[in-house]
Amino acid sequence: MGSTRPKGRRSGRAVQGCYAAALNDCGGDLEAEHFVSKALLQQLGRSFTVNGPPGAKGGKKSGPNAFTAHVLCKRHNGALSPVDTTAGRFYRLMLTAVSAGRIGDHEFDGDDLERWAIKLLLGAAVSNNISDDAGRALVVSQPPLPYPQFLFGESDVSPGCGFMFASTPLEGMEEATSLSWRPLISQQGASAEWSA
Ligand SMILES: [Zn+2]
Repeated sequence: MGSTRPKGRRSGRAVQGCYAAALNDCGGDLEAEHFVSKALLQQLGRSFTVNGPPGAKGGKKSGPNAFTAHVLCKRHNGALSPVDTTAGRFYRLMLTAVSAGRIGDHEFDGDDLERWAIKLLLGAAVSNNISDDAGRALVVSQPPLPYPQFLFGESDVSPGCGFMFASTPLEGMEEATSLSWRPLISQQGASAEWSA
């Protein structure tokens, strides 16, 4: 379930500007892609604070229509819509759990949640929306092949990578209406931060 592999046979096409072009399975023109799922952004309200992109030091006000970029072809963009739906459903339940406590039983495809995180990472990186430690935009044109391969259902995530369970509460996760990201690896060493 939750497959993000484009339907039918491999197209054999590579659309210039699509970050999954190396898979040779493109179709249609480049489309505006919400690399942070709109289904998730809409739950943050009409206005929210963003930290992470270049120029957003100290937090920048934004809204649900932000974070679009022409970084995927129509065929690859369309293949990711189940991932956006999953992210929106997951986040809604997380918010309910924080405020109400009890949410009952729900099933999620863990691979889809990991694919959603990679979709955000690649979209933000290729559209120059990730900054280095000095606040400058990182320039990424084509991501390393294993990322689009996993994102579009052609391979499994590497052992030891992906989402893990945290056995103790994570600091800073109480900020339910902000969005921030940083590279996992910087020139100064490993660091990680994600909250939504
Ligand atoms: Zn494509």
